[in-house]
This record gives sequence, C-alpha cells and structure tokens, in this order.
Amino acid sequence: MQIPDYIQTILSVLERHGFSACVVGGCVRDGLLGRQASDWDVATAARPETVRKLFEKTVPTGIAHGTVTVVLPQGTAEVTTFRTDGVYADGRHPSQVTFTDALRDDLARRDFTVNAMAMDLRGRLYDCFGGQADLRSRCIRCVGDADVRFSEDALRMLRAVRFSAQLEFSIEDQTLAAIKRCAPLCQKLSAERIRDEVQKTLCSAHPERVGQMIALGLLEKLGLSGQWDLSDLRTLPGEAVVRWAGLKRLLPQLDLSMLRLDRHTEQTATLAAQAYRETFTELELKRLLAQQGTAVADCAARLSGARALLEQILSSGDCVSLKTLAVNGSDFPTLEGRQVGQMLHRLLLHVLEHPQDNDKQRLLAIAAQAEQTD
Ligand code: ATP
Ligand code: MG
Repeated sequence: MQIPDYIQTILSVLERHGFSACVVGGCVRDGLLGRQASDWDVATAARPETVRKLFEKTVPTGIAHGTVTVVLPQGTAEVTTFRTDGVYADGRHPSQVTFTDALRDDLARRDFTVNAMAMDLRGRLYDCFGGQADLRSRCIRCVGDADVRFSEDALRMLRAVRFSAQLEFSIEDQTLAAIKRCAPLCQKLSAERIRDEVQKTLCSAHPERVGQMIALGLLEKLGLSGQWDLSDLRTLPGEAVVRWAGLKRLLPQLDLSMLRLDRHTEQTATLAAQAYRETFTELELKRLLAQQGTAVADCAARLSGARALLEQILSSGDCVSLKTLAVNGSDFPTLEGRQVGQMLHRLLLHVLEHPQDNDKQRLLAIAAQAEQTD
C-alpha cells in the first residue's frame, strides 16, 4: 500500500520532532484492499497544540477530541493525538506511556477490526485485533465485546451494515447477533448521524442493504420496520438525490423531512418519487419539465431510465417553460391578474404538444379563440 507523498511529509515532520505517528483507520483498510482511500487520518503522540506549531497551516477541527486538520498544498489530513496518551483522567497514573501501548489503546477504541489498523512511515503494520485476517475473510467484526461497543455508540450498528455494503463484506455472526439485541439503542441517535450512514449505504454498490438496516430494527426512529425488497435501487445511477428518490418511491411512508437533508435534495427527491412512472412518453416528460423544472424532471427521468429521452427534449430546443414561450404577460393587456397566468399556462401546455406553434402570432390567435370559447 502506497502512502501519498504529502501524508509521508506529515508523518516525517512529526517523527523528526520526536513524536511517533502513523496513518490509521479507514485509509489503512482501503489501502490494504487496493481501494482508493477517501481521506487520510494520522494518529500521533504529539498533542494538538504541538501539531499546530509544527505545520504552517492548520485548522482546529476537533480540538476537544484532539483533532487538528493539517493543510498542505497537495491535500489535507486529520491529525489526532492518541486518545489515551499522556495524563490519565484520574491523574494518578504516570503521564508517560510507550508508543505501542498508546497506539494499541487508540486502536482498541475503534469500531471494527478492519478499521483498527495503523501503518507507519516504514510500512510497518500495527494490527492488534486481527484486522488483516478479517480483511481476508471479508467480514465486519467488532473490536472487543460487540454488545459493549454498540452500547457505547449505537451508530456502530449502522456503520456495520454500511461498511458491509460498501466493501461487500459479511457481518460476523457474534457482531450480527449483538446488533439484533442492541438495535433499539438506535432510537437515541440524531437524525443527521443516521442519515449519513443511510446515504453512504444508498450510494454504495449494495443500496438494498438499507433493507437490512430496516429489518434489523435500526431505522425505527424513521418509522421504518419490516421486510422490504429494495433490490430495484441497484439499477439506479449512483447520485445521492436519485437514490433517495428511489428509496422514497419504494417506501412511500418514509418522510424525507425527518432526515435533515439539504432542502434541494429533500424536495427534488420527494417530487421525483411522486412523479415516478415505469416509462415516460415524450409529452409526459415535457409536462413534468414545465411543471417542476429541470432538477425534478432529471431525477425522475433517471429513476425511470429515461435520461436519454430527457436529453433529447432539452437539446431539441422545444419550449418547455414559460421562459421560452413566444408570448408573455404583456401580450395580454386586456386580461387581469390570475387570468394572465392561466392563459400563459394553457398556451404552454398547448406548445408542449405542438412545438411548431410556439410563434407569437399563432399563440395570440389560439388565445383569442380560447377566450371566445370560454
Ligand atoms: P470512510 O471515510 O471511507 O467512510 P472510515 O473508516 O475512514 O471510512 P470514518 O468515519 O472516516 O470512517 O472514521 C475514521 C476511523 O475512525 C474509522 O476507520 C474508525 O477506526 C474510527 N471510527 C469512526 N467512527 C467511529 C465510531 N463511531 N466508533 C468507533 N470508531 C470509529
Ligand atoms: Mg474516513
């Protein structure tokens, strides 16, 4: 596994000043699996205030947890002080702990064996809990007693399913049995933390595992329980908004507003799920464009595999919104208030069906006729 140059720089600066340091957690797991790491985390004996002095540009991301983000031109890394290094909470123990003891304690607080490995600058791997063996047998197993670990932080149960979906691993028997016992503890989690794990699962190669989260009772806080077949989600494009829309379509009882998604994602996904059809005709898709705008129509088209049709409509230059209609409000000086809007809308619906009629004279004639028949 190759540690990027700028991360090696961070490790060597720390070591040069006498502080042991290594990369740790997800990046080691992904590196050993030959996957692209999403971010690089460094663990070190240096204290946060020292880390801030050693590097020119840092951000105190989580000082309370000992985390400083080091910013270098090539990228950033979160540098976290070994949790148990230094003075013990009760103040009676000596403040010096050896590197390997401190590292072992730091690794012991991590959730799963595959997430509890570290590697130093020389490529030496620290694997105190059988992480490599579990990588080989492709399984998610808690570090320590699973019931205890889930009681400390219920989010770990959702993370177990999320990692199994992302890595295509199974959940080890004891760990899975503990999830079944501890599932009700997820009621206490914040909606944001639940959302992040559900979204990562939804955007993985196995979005249907959200169904496993539900079956295990991990999403009762969202009002979801029972057995659901979510395998249709696998065929959808991977963007979060499309996957959320797909989930909403399959689980209409899910209230996306509970998840504190950003407003755009929540609204687009909800409206696209509502607009769902197995297949769209050109006219149906044009009407959706006219009524809900491009973002919703795009999401709905992706849900139905109608992306090519949508692109064809958009590139045809046909009028699909009031903005490109050949008439506007000022063309109807004799109409009042709401009537103007109603007329424009009526003409737009006509033009969706007859694109060749998007011409000022023709539309005015159609409007005059409509007024007469009303
Ligand atoms: P990714 O960033 O690819 O989603 P990751 O493994 O890096 O996966 P993070 O959430 O970034 O996951 O956390 C980094 C590391 O911190 C994990 O690998 C794990 O060792 C530890 N960790 C994170 N959250 C928890 C938790 N709730 N309980 C115990 N350890 C955790
Ligand atoms: Mg990470």
